[in-house]
Amino acid sequence: MLIVDADKCIGCGACEDNCAFGAIIVEDDLAVVGDSCTLCGACVDVCDVEALHIEGGEKAVQADLSAWSGIWIFAESRHGVLAPVALELLGIGRKLAEQRGVELTAVLFGSDVQSHADQLIASGADIVLIADNPALAQYREDVYGRVLEQLIKEKKPEVVLAGATAIGRSLIPQAATVLGAGLTADCTGLAIREEDGMLLQTRPAFGGNIMATIECPHSRPQMATVRPNVMAPAEPDSERTGQIVKIELNDEQLASRVEVLETVTSSEEQVNIQEVEVLVAGGRGVESEKGFELIQELAAELNGAVAASRAAVDAGWVSYPHQVGQTGKTVCPKLYIACGISGAIQHAVGMQSAETVVAINRDENAPIFDIATYGLVGDLFEIVPLLTRKIQEQRRE
Ligand SMILES: Cc1cc2nc3c(=O)[nH]c(=O)nc-3n(C[C@H](O)[C@H](O)[C@H](O)COP(=O)(O)OP(=O)(O)OC[C@H]3O[C@@H](n4cnc5c(N)ncnc54)[C@H](O)[C@@H]3O)c2cc1C
Repeated sequence: MLIVDADKCIGCGACEDNCAFGAIIVEDDLAVVGDSCTLCGACVDVCDVEALHIEGGEKAVQADLSAWSGIWIFAESRHGVLAPVALELLGIGRKLAEQRGVELTAVLFGSDVQSHADQLIASGADIVLIADNPALAQYREDVYGRVLEQLIKEKKPEVVLAGATAIGRSLIPQAATVLGAGLTADCTGLAIREEDGMLLQTRPAFGGNIMATIECPHSRPQMATVRPNVMAPAEPDSERTGQIVKIELNDEQLASRVEVLETVTSSEEQVNIQEVEVLVAGGRGVESEKGFELIQELAAELNGAVAASRAAVDAGWVSYPHQVGQTGKTVCPKLYIACGISGAIQHAVGMQSAETVVAINRDENAPIFDIATYGLVGDLFEIVPLLTRKIQEQRRE
């Protein structure tokens, strides 16, 4: 919370001028803090009379940043299966660790997950920290959070990365808050600045219209979640060696207020659009749920899956797990066929790394053609059934 000391404040307005969020106004010679305050601390830094300070959720200014060393990735596993993003994090983590000249550690929680350790080492980890316990079989944020926070406090890594998955997006902000650390969500790029070793965290900002590079100069660890399918996994090397460290946990650490009664797999999510090689995507141009049957037919013919723009999801024609883009999934298929999708930046960020993009749109100026490998200008209701038929014919020949 940002506190204003009324005895010290002189109402100079420096805080108001420097607040990027319009969260402070000076009224009757006193700074007044509004709801949009993000606790960024910019006002604290410019207040010459030291009338402002942040209380609780401390802006963690740790005196000795050099005490923090090493790159960590959280190797997410669900129901005993390692999430592909764990290997992608090792890919980028390896590069960062080499640039910093430090070790890369994978942190693995779960039950009966030791068998993943060799894969993590082969994919780039120098050390695997394993907390293997039946109480960790299911993700429960209070237990996972507590164990991760304690490990970070004890071992002091300078960087902690996790996938921007449902689990990563729940676990990492919680840990960052408790540790008073900086966190950048949904990064699409990470690099080390050579001069001072700072982690540069890049992510789309302002509705995806600009890319912002964020740094955490005062706090450690520097924490970030990274979108699945954005970073390339490292080529596995079975000759690599590493250290496996088992974490012993006591009952107190494993106590939880959450009891998992049942796990139900949604039939909708059975096709994970991030894991298929061919996606046929529909947008507002598809016009209706019925229109999506054409998309489905083409996808089935190509052994692929259906994806969608947010406009189609918002209209209720397709469910959210199919959404591609900034607020949906990032996909990297071999073939992405975009039908009736304009190619807005928020959609493009989720599919532009597809190997081949085919765009079908009746507007020849649609931005999707800027990223398409092949563009078909015309009516999707003519072109899509024609394509499906042609593929069927080719198959029969
Ligand atoms: C913060 C934020 C996050 C967002 N996140 C996402 C996201 O994750 N994913 C996402 O997709 N969007 C997202 N959006 C929305 C995004 O800005 C666009 O509004 C959206 O992508 C548009 O979807 P569309 O291309 O299907 O629709 P439109 O932009 O309306 O385009 C429809 C296209 O279909 C073409 N068309 C129409 N009829 C036919 C036809 N018969 N044959 C051929 N072509 C036809 C038109 O020429 C047009 O180009 C986000 C926006 C914001 C602000």
